[in-house]
Amino acid sequence: MAEGKSRRVAQTEDLSNVEFETSEDVEVIGTFDNMGLRDELLRGIYAYGFEKPSAIQQRSIKPIMKGRDVIAQAQSGTGKTATFSIAILQSLDTTIRETQVLVLSPTRELAVQIQKVILALGDFMNVQCHACIGGTNLGEDIRKLDYGQHVVSGTPGRVFDMIKRRVLRTRAIKMLVLDESDEMLNKGFKEQIYDVYRYLPPATQVVLVSATLPHEILEMTSKFMTNPIRILVKRDELTLEGIKQFFVAVEREEWKFDTLCDLYDTLTITQAVIFCNTKRKVDWLTEKMREANFTVCSMHGDMPQKERDNIMKEFRSGQSRVLITTDVWARGIDVQQVSLVINYDLPNNRELYIHRIGRSGRFGRKGVSINFVKTDDIRILRDIEQYYSTQIDEMPMNVADLI
Ligand code: ADP
Repeated sequence: MAEGKSRRVAQTEDLSNVEFETSEDVEVIGTFDNMGLRDELLRGIYAYGFEKPSAIQQRSIKPIMKGRDVIAQAQSGTGKTATFSIAILQSLDTTIRETQVLVLSPTRELAVQIQKVILALGDFMNVQCHACIGGTNLGEDIRKLDYGQHVVSGTPGRVFDMIKRRVLRTRAIKMLVLDESDEMLNKGFKEQIYDVYRYLPPATQVVLVSATLPHEILEMTSKFMTNPIRILVKRDELTLEGIKQFFVAVEREEWKFDTLCDLYDTLTITQAVIFCNTKRKVDWLTEKMREANFTVCSMHGDMPQKERDNIMKEFRSGQSRVLITTDVWARGIDVQQVSLVINYDLPNNRELYIHRIGRSGRFGRKGVSINFVKTDDIRILRDIEQYYSTQIDEMPMNVADLI
């Protein structure tokens, strides 16, 4: 059984000509107008600047609205957050102030971002949506939940805590959304998700959103979901398209720093994110850049939430232009203006590469990525190239003109 399942995944990933591999015929609805959405929500969608639903939205919003259990698989930047946010808003009864939908995400930033999207799209609906995340004031959380929230978007630990304290009442919950489920499993949230799930009404609809579909996810679906409909976006088509990828051969670790300094003017043309593989390295590089009088900001998971929020805010608003970070950033955090990504360290696996680089290619936006490659990294780079059937060329002199 288990073997059969994993084989099916492999086949799905290998399809090269078919954009969507779904478990049954899925209706494609080309406009928001034709989705049967309530007027206030439609207004919110258009006011937010969306004109036409993305591919995943055209296929997934309706089944979620209908109450089906859905697995939506697509790369980051394809509109998944908006997909479930719209479906959630459509399903709410705002005349009662009870929690009806719970969204779980692997990081605090993501949980907050989802809250913001829901509030923005639901701007004309009088919707209450709370971000229930670790690292924030417990009393405030309790107060907000006591007041009554239609939607709670949170990280598994804090959410479970609130449920156990009976501050977050689950009796009216009808939908559970697990965002970036593959990443949640990586982070070892599995038990906490099960814990939360046990407190939900038995008929709760489950929506699972994931960039990849590893075996553990399939296992989870069989435990949580009833006859789920699967809507899958092919892996390699969406992700690296429109993104120019380069490498700089730095030979040794020590040469990376000077290379980065040489690139600084290029970095600040718009905005750039620089990825390191460890928090320590982020701190070290930040320090060293500042010593050399370069302006940079940095963020990683060990920083207090408040600080992380501030850094995000500054970067979003464009006040800071160069951000050094770990892979905390790579998942789902949406910063439209980032058009340059530097892998100071090559990522430890192929999925992370897509997540880091995919950042710059959102909704047709062009982007450039530059990989610092030590002599013994060349193998990894070639592997990534081959895996995604893509091309990573040596960085040209005029790279600044391409951004
Ligand atoms: P994902 O969750 O797959 O990473 P998001 O839902 O965050 O993707 O969407 C990525 C970006 O595209 C966001 O800036 C979002 O506002 C924008 N976006 C999403 N759907 C649409 C749409 N239908 N039209 C225009 N922009 C969209």
